[in-house]
Amino acid sequence: MQDIINNLPKQAKDKHNENKKFFTKLKKKPPKNLDYVMQDLHEQEFKRTDCLGCANCCKTTGPLFTDKDVDRIAKHFRMKTQQFISKFLRVDDENDYVLQSVPCTFLGADNYCSIYDVRPKACREFPHTDRSKFQQISHLTLKNVAICPAAFNIVEEMKKRIKV
Ligand code: SF4
Ligand code: SF4
Repeated sequence: MQDIINNLPKQAKDKHNENKKFFTKLKKKPPKNLDYVMQDLHEQEFKRTDCLGCANCCKTTGPLFTDKDVDRIAKHFRMKTQQFISKFLRVDDENDYVLQSVPCTFLGADNYCSIYDVRPKACREFPHTDRSKFQQISHLTLKNVAICPAAFNIVEEMKKRIKV
């Protein structure tokens, strides 16, 4: 898995223009069954993906924390919201709460998430490949294929399955 992760930024860079063209066309005319196709591709890929052998998302990009995430996780630690924010979070350029540093402070050496049951919504949904109207987050997906081997494979399969 580590070799795959190490090669991913270069592979994603090589595919960037092709992917960008594909998503531009997809956005203009998304097929009616896009949600169905994405659900299928996502399920097939994650059946064979070992996230615990990877954790590259947790190691390289932190999630965005919504106010609800902050309240829930602070409560989990029995901390006051403000105390939790000061200890773990910062506000980024887009005014969102993000981690002060990566790898994520809640990631264990065994790649387990120590707050799995209360983890941020963004962590639960990453890499967002099963969300509806997937064409609307192409800018994010173009970045995620360099981080997430599963997202990379899903986009490669998309290009084979969907003729734009
Ligand atoms: S909160 Fe958990 S799932 Fe989210 S980035 Fe940190 S370790 Fe990963
Ligand atoms: S979601 Fe992607 S980057 Fe995160 S652990 Fe799973 S395969 Fe790796």
